[in-house]
Amino acid sequence: MTHTMETPPAGELDLAKLSLEQLLICHECDLLMAKPHLQDGEKAECPRCGYEVDRHQPHMVQRSLALVLAALIFYLPANFMPIMSLGLLGQKNDDTIWSAVKALYLSDMAVIALIVFLSSMLIPLIKLLTQLWVLLILQLNGSARFGLWLYRTYHHMREWGMLEVYMFGVLVSIVKMIDLGDLSLGLGLACFVGLLVSQIWLEATMNDHQVWEMLEEQRNRQAVDEVIDEACA
Ligand SMILES: [Zn+2]
Repeated sequence: MTHTMETPPAGELDLAKLSLEQLLICHECDLLMAKPHLQDGEKAECPRCGYEVDRHQPHMVQRSLALVLAALIFYLPANFMPIMSLGLLGQKNDDTIWSAVKALYLSDMAVIALIVFLSSMLIPLIKLLTQLWVLLILQLNGSARFGLWLYRTYHHMREWGMLEVYMFGVLVSIVKMIDLGDLSLGLGLACFVGLLVSQIWLEATMNDHQVWEMLEEQRNRQAVDEVIDEACA
């Protein structure tokens, strides 16, 4: 149902007249263009390289809320239930992400334990909670000024959660250990995959341009309301 909207190629003179909020830059080829006003389901492509510069998701807030809640439900079992269990020489070991962090810490690798803890447990959780909070602000008409600050903070944290890298590490160790002993995969791994998938899906659904735009409109609306309230008081 998406229909493509070509962004109007604007001459340099036209662009100079526009304010920063009315401009958009292509992430691929750095072309500066006038920001198109999209309707639900429409997308805009860069006129030079064809990269999708923006897409207006219908029901973006509600769909993102569902995904962020799904990810949060997966979060606890993904971190505290066994990722795999290895039976070696008659001994059975259940490995959870949390027990891996503890084991690293106890074997004098406190720094690595801290990095694993931050990148695979704490930061992904804070990111999800920040996304949840921003979405609730949009859904329930909360303070948009706070929402803007929160979403900015979220963008600073984005590079720090490295679930994907961690997942890759888990897969490599599974492949390596498969011949060592009696290896069985745990429910924790399934939840970890669930967490990863809902997060990637969430990143694709929760459209940055749209969130910024909605927060900005909400802030302007609330500012007008404040002025009216003050005038009436
Ligand atoms: Zn481009």
